[in-house]
Order: sequence, then structure tokens, then C-alpha cells
Amino acid sequence: MKASKGAVNRINQWFTQLLSTAEGLLSPQTLTCTACSNKYGTQRELPLCDACWAAIPWILQVHCRSCGRPEVCTDCQRRRETYFVRNRSAVSYSPLMKEWLAVYKYRGHEKLRELLGSMLLHAYHLHRKSEAEVTVSGFELITYVPVSHKRQMERGFNQAQQLADELGRKTGIPVVPILERVRHTDKQSFKTRGDRLEDLQGVFAMLPAAKQALPELVSQKNVKLYMVDDVYTTGSTLNECARAIQAELKGVEIYGLSWAR
Ligand SMILES: [Zn+2]
Ligand SMILES: [Zn+2]
Repeated sequence: MKASKGAVNRINQWFTQLLSTAEGLLSPQTLTCTACSNKYGTQRELPLCDACWAAIPWILQVHCRSCGRPEVCTDCQRRRETYFVRNRSAVSYSPLMKEWLAVYKYRGHEKLRELLGSMLLHAYHLHRKSEAEVTVSGFELITYVPVSHKRQMERGFNQAQQLADELGRKTGIPVVPILERVRHTDKQSFKTRGDRLEDLQGVFAMLPAAKQALPELVSQKNVKLYMVDDVYTTGSTLNECARAIQAELKGVEIYGLSWAR
């Protein structure tokens, strides 16, 4: 007896279902990598496949104690006045990290934002690690490097602010807006070091609300301020931010926290 077409289809359907169930039993979790969208099976701290996880250039050994660079640093030696205590970054800015940040910055990928924010936690831990050596305590606050209105309009968000918010969620440390960019500057990455320094003068100013609220807090507590940015290049942006804050709040400790460097 010949099976009808419908019966064959039903058998096929049943067989496909059986196969996918068996597959599901063999690998109980099929996860999607946030960075490359490949499927993977082992759950880890970050939602990444084996290859992407292995390719992250974590900064594990700090060479320059001031900026957290993993190798010899001349930028810090050349800086005349430093207004921040130190900077720590989570990863080296490798071509792959550049790619991840570009995708996040230009597409505003939410999953990527969570990923980069989680990675920033490593920079925070590097800070805590260097602190344990001297045991300093304080009242912690997180803030971020502001972008100009023009850039914010173009992109729709400030990546430094979003990373700061993610870090705040993960650590429970309050995130407060402190600075604003009072002047728009062209892309810093295309400039020489000298041009950058000159160009950044007077770019940042404290927000009126922060000017009102912070002095009292600083007078009562030993405030540690974490200034979050996506990428640390020479430290001139962080130094200018710290200078603008120090101009209003003498003695407040400012620490840089960047995702990459
Ligand atoms: Zn991947
Ligand atoms: Zn350095």
C-alpha cells in the first residue's frame, strides 16, 4: 500500500521534531554570541562564544601606575599637571575592540552596551586592587565625560553615560551628571597631541546643579569620583575634565575609568 502525500508530510514533520528535541537534549542551551551572533553552548560571565571570549585583550598587568597602561608610557611623563589620581582601563584597544565599539556607537546595540558595561567592571576592579595596597576608603560616585549637543543629536546618546549607567547598575554606586561640554570640538582622534591639549582648554564646565549640590557633600565626606569614558588615548580629555571639577571642588579625588585604552 502506498502512503498518501499527507501521511508522508506528517511523518517528515514528526521526524524533524524528534531530531530537534534530541538535539535540544544533547546540548541543553544554545546561546547566541552578542558580538558575532554565532551559537555557543557554555554559559559564562559574558554572553560571548569561545572565540570572542578568548579574543578580549584584558589588561591584567598595569605598567604605568598613573594611567594603567600595560606597557612603558611617555604620555604621563610629559603631562605637566595632572588633576586626576589615576586611570584604569579594562582592555587594550585592539582592532577587534575598535570594531565592537564602532558597532555599538553607530547602531546603539543594547546587548553590546550591556556587554561593554560589564567589561568596564574589570577597570573598576583594577582600581580597587591598586587601592588595597594603600587602603583608602571614601564615598564613591560615578560620572562620565559629556559629549557636545551636536554629537548627542547625531548619535542619539552618549556612550560614556550609558557605560557609566551600566557600571552603576552593576556596582550599586550612584551615577551623577557633573560636567557639560560648553564648546564643540572636532574629532580628537585625528589630532596631534599638542593640538588636542590646546583644543580641549575650557571645553568642560560643571553643571549648575552639580555646582550647588556637590560642595556640601565633598566637605562632609571623602568623595571619590569615577570619570567614565569609552576610550582613554593620551589622558588629555580626562585631565581637562578633572581640571574643570577641581576648579570648583578643590581636593576631590578623581579617577578615570575607561573601557579601552
Ligand atoms: Zn562570538
Ligand atoms: Zn601613563
